[in-house]
Amino acid sequence: MVTAPGPERSDAGQQTPAAQGSMTRRRFLAVSTVSAVATACAGPLRVLSPSPGSPSPGSVPPGSVSPAGPASSPSASLSGASVVPVSPGVGRAGSRRTLYRRGALADGRSPQLELPVSILVEEGRIAWIRPADAEEDPGTRDGLEIVDASGATFVPAMVDCHSHLTGPGGAHWIERFSDPPEQLVATAEHNGSIALASGVRWIRDVGSPSGVDPVDGRDRALSLGVRDRWRGRRDRPYVRAAGNWIFGGGISVVAHGVQASNGDELVAAAMGQLDDGADLVKLYLDGPDPARSPWSVDEVRRVVEAVHGRGARITAHSGRLDGARVGAEAAVDSLEHGFELDEDVARAMLTNGVRLISTLAVMRSWLTFGRTTDLERFATPAGETVIRDRLARAEESVRLAHRAGVPVSTGTDFGGGSLRANQLAWEVESLVAAGLEPWEALAAATWRGGELLGEADAGTIREGGPADFFLVHGDPLSEPAALWRVWRVA
Ligand SMILES: [Zn+2]
Repeated sequence: MVTAPGPERSDAGQQTPAAQGSMTRRRFLAVSTVSAVATACAGPLRVLSPSPGSPSPGSVPPGSVSPAGPASSPSASLSGASVVPVSPGVGRAGSRRTLYRRGALADGRSPQLELPVSILVEEGRIAWIRPADAEEDPGTRDGLEIVDASGATFVPAMVDCHSHLTGPGGAHWIERFSDPPEQLVATAEHNGSIALASGVRWIRDVGSPSGVDPVDGRDRALSLGVRDRWRGRRDRPYVRAAGNWIFGGGISVVAHGVQASNGDELVAAAMGQLDDGADLVKLYLDGPDPARSPWSVDEVRRVVEAVHGRGARITAHSGRLDGARVGAEAAVDSLEHGFELDEDVARAMLTNGVRLISTLAVMRSWLTFGRTTDLERFATPAGETVIRDRLARAEESVRLAHRAGVPVSTGTDFGGGSLRANQLAWEVESLVAAGLEPWEALAAATWRGGELLGEADAGTIREGGPADFFLVHGDPLSEPAALWRVWRVA
């Protein structure tokens, strides 16, 4: 339905599908050879963003240890598979080891599946990835679980780059942010659980209401306490969180939002969020007058420098063109939504290293509300027309950015938008509908998210890396809906 970007185009630092495919294949075969030798073995308008902004890639404060989540480790996915030293027979009796045999692999770096592939996981890390016909000896069978993965596809665990942990989503998503702190924190626990089960391992929270945390007693953005409590847990996603949204003076889409009327207040508000423990800062570039950014380019540039000076990143909600222009020219790290970009803004984004975080499925969910609710802004012909026009404009914006070479990451906007925490597959489908190739859309929901977060392992499958992947039925490189058909999470 939408014209796709030419297959020959390539984003900065991104090879064309054809080039990547051949590279992947070549390296795969190289690995195969090595193993044989060595072992023989991603009104409505105004409504949209209740979710104030969104932050940019989670950042890790200098000197801090990986907030939630694994320690960083060497990198190289299968596509870049450097063979990590793994001795045959290394498996120890009693160690937790799982051998997944004969699945297909879709790593989001090429348009082609690799198959059949076997993967050995030891103590939560990928010991090796091999063509199924050249498996290494997994070692002792004691404690080894063998999973017949035939008919399933390995996919890197996804990175939801735009989400709101403390909100449940649904047709009254903004109202839900006014629920009491106890409810918001409980909502986050449910969101974390269902996100993980859907294949999401990393979550970037771009805004949460503040309140007194019922567990740690601190009065700050509630997502920060949730992040702290999930640190190091495998049964919850790894989190980078922005704290509260920073709105212009006179506007606060949610209760208890932080407001800044001028440049001084803006810097102070950003520093306040970082002092509270935020990993990144989220600005809201739609002002009281939607057609105008609440701050000037100079004011935003100043807060960008201040945040970067603290070793953190800064992102900006961009629902309207003027805010997008200001964010792009001021070189924030990323624009969230980017629903009204034009060619000039896309060019400025590329020049200034500003990434785009798409959230197209929000409008698609609103369209479903036209049938499942009796709310006027969704369920009337006029409401539907507004939403469809908005979606078409947003899809065009994604195409403009993508064609310009701007890296695209993606998120559900769950909680701050109407999606739920286990619906990132919907956004991948939406990116394909907007014109990205399926592998590019999968990249946006996996390793492009890792780039955004500055986490080399996020969204990748590589030897020596964490066993963060899931298995689906179908080929997401030709049919993105396959991502809904989750069989199991490694
Ligand atoms: Zn949002």
